[in-house]
Amino acid sequence: MIAYDTPGVTDQYEYSVKGFSPINERDGDSAIMDYRKEFVVKPGTKVKLSKYDPDETLGHHKGPKLDEKLAKLQSKLDSLQYLMYAERKHALLVVFQAIDAGGKDGTIRHVMSGVNPEGCTVTSFKVPSAEELAHDFLWRIHKAMPVVGDIGIFNRSHYEDVLVARVHNLVPKEVWSARYDEINAFEKLMTENRVTIVKFYLHISKDEQKKRFIERIDDVDKRWKISIADFTERKYWDDYISAYEHAISRCSTSGAPWYIIPANKKWFRNLAVSHILVETLEALKMKFPKPAVDIRDLKWK
Ligand code: ATP
Ligand code: MG
Repeated sequence: MIAYDTPGVTDQYEYSVKGFSPINERDGDSAIMDYRKEFVVKPGTKVKLSKYDPDETLGHHKGPKLDEKLAKLQSKLDSLQYLMYAERKHALLVVFQAIDAGGKDGTIRHVMSGVNPEGCTVTSFKVPSAEELAHDFLWRIHKAMPVVGDIGIFNRSHYEDVLVARVHNLVPKEVWSARYDEINAFEKLMTENRVTIVKFYLHISKDEQKKRFIERIDDVDKRWKISIADFTERKYWDDYISAYEHAISRCSTSGAPWYIIPANKKWFRNLAVSHILVETLEALKMKFPKPAVDIRDLKWK
């Protein structure tokens, strides 16, 4: 029997994922943009959504250069998710909220297309069931939190309980108004227990919503998306905006920040969200764990 040392192993703890280096060093941009800083809502800010431009693109244009950037970010996200899955020290929760036709589904499809479905779960929160209503509003949320190593994506979330619940008086004012503090306490508990939280509000204009609804009517492939509720809810536009402003102002914390993403341009929305996810995961400074065996001891037969 001939035994060989494991080829190519100089140091068993030296690991890297192909192409793994901070995104800003790699993409060759002269102006290095910190998307988190650009779009985060600083704790204590009193948000007025009319002051945020839903058409903002930070000087970017649609085209092959942008597609290349998006592809790089996606592969970067894939590498970081792989690392998080291996390290199993952190979970990432990504919350998406938006007005109807705001683009939650499209953004989630974009983000998901870059990651391994193993290690990633998407939960869509609909009108609560009888069982869910019989519990506190965070019960179903807590159950859906990602485990360490995983990315959890929420399509709608516990914020519905201070949005639709407030707009339609589903519960008395004293109930929904207590929820901001309850949400902050819950999110603090989560972040202290290894979950990194990022929350995205996809910001579209009322005209853009109308345009998207008309597209759904005109395009046979999109007609299935039309719901009567979308049209009735549009009447409550101002109430929703005001409810969002309160929720974002009250619940953007350093541990669980809200980001307001200009979302009239779908390609820019995807770029900004991808950047923020990559920057957030990079900031965790994750490392591959040491292997359970000493690789230098492995013998080839
Ligand atoms: P789509 O893009 O497919 O329309 P959607 O997220 O709008 O996706 P729907 O089934 O159309 O899905 O709507 C879900 C509904 O559930 C929304 O009207 C939302 O306000 C409602 N909902 C979610 N959470 C709650 C909650 N906690 N209390 C009351 N209603 C809720
Ligand atoms: Mg809907």
